[in-house]
Amino acid sequence: MEKWPITLTSTKKVKPDADRLGFGKYFTDHMLLMDYSAGQGWHDPRIVPYGPISLDPSAMVFHYGQEVFEGMKAYRTPQGELVLFRPDMNLRRLNQSCARIGIPQVDPEEVLEGISRLLLLEEEWMPEGEGNSMYIRPFIIATESGLGVRAAQEYRLIVILSPVGAYYPEGIHPVRIYVEDRYVRAVRGGTGEAKTSGNYAAGIKAQEDVKSLGFSQVLWLDGIEKRYIEEVGSMNVFFKIDGEVVTPELNGSILAGVTRDSVIRLLREWGVPVKERRISVTELFEAHQDGRLEEAFGTGTAAVISPIGSMKWDDHDIEIAGGETGELSAKLYDTLTGIQRGEREDSFGWRYSVR
Ligand SMILES: *Cc1c(COP(=O)(O)O)cnc(C)c1O
Repeated sequence: MEKWPITLTSTKKVKPDADRLGFGKYFTDHMLLMDYSAGQGWHDPRIVPYGPISLDPSAMVFHYGQEVFEGMKAYRTPQGELVLFRPDMNLRRLNQSCARIGIPQVDPEEVLEGISRLLLLEEEWMPEGEGNSMYIRPFIIATESGLGVRAAQEYRLIVILSPVGAYYPEGIHPVRIYVEDRYVRAVRGGTGEAKTSGNYAAGIKAQEDVKSLGFSQVLWLDGIEKRYIEEVGSMNVFFKIDGEVVTPELNGSILAGVTRDSVIRLLREWGVPVKERRISVTELFEAHQDGRLEEAFGTGTAAVISPIGSMKWDDHDIEIAGGETGELSAKLYDTLTGIQRGEREDSFGWRYSVR
């Protein structure tokens, strides 16, 4: 493929043990780069040896945070095919994030072609083993040097690959959640619906505080009234109340997850009632008190489905689904991971074959 010229590495790395991968600890031998400058547009798409990049200390990304990223996974099917899960949605979202952060649009097809090319080149890094996959991290940074506050005129797109282990090496298990009532992650009109580093920077302090108290994630409330539920950690969140599944509606400060959309479609297909609407934390804890809160779970590419076993808000501390993985959560997990790995029929056409 001439479009993405390849410079091969001269020193291949030793590959990690497939049963000790963890998340985002190892990176493959090559990476994809493409540059942008005003006037020229995106140019010089290329695949080069993985390694440090050199930037001027005044590069604008270091100062004003003009950055966007994506996260997706590649899987090897039992038939030996390399597949992605709904990559069109990730690339569309990348451009939506770019639009919000003032970064120029990319050609989604060109980038998908480049990612496919990189995956094929790095195929020997695709980890064997149940639950393992290749995590793909595309991101764009403002590289122009200068301290003036404005949109940069120069950017770089980078895609790196990381072989990752199953999120739950011992099988899916419920986590403990803290309802965050001091800090907020995002507000409507802000950047909450863009996948950008600034949202993560805004959340790290809260995350660290609750981790030291024994919680695994925070439940984010809306930034204005701190009453309505938004997301859990860096995942979207769902609740099953009285047989109906509810998830916060996309209101401008919530990230539109690919997993979230897939869960909603699966539930509709199964005939399970599902609503996207505002949910207050009071409503949720009242539902629990009345015995109507049946299940709760987060959704995202890394964990796919992450059941919530208990939740603390103020001085209320509740257990959900007896602290176990709910029936619906387990069914969604099995179905989604089955489709992603090519072990189940893909009736929605969600798998994209890299070759
Ligand atoms: C990436 C992300 C999600 C999950 O999106 P998926 O496309 O399902 O991986 C949810 N919330 C936030 C804040 C995110 O950054």
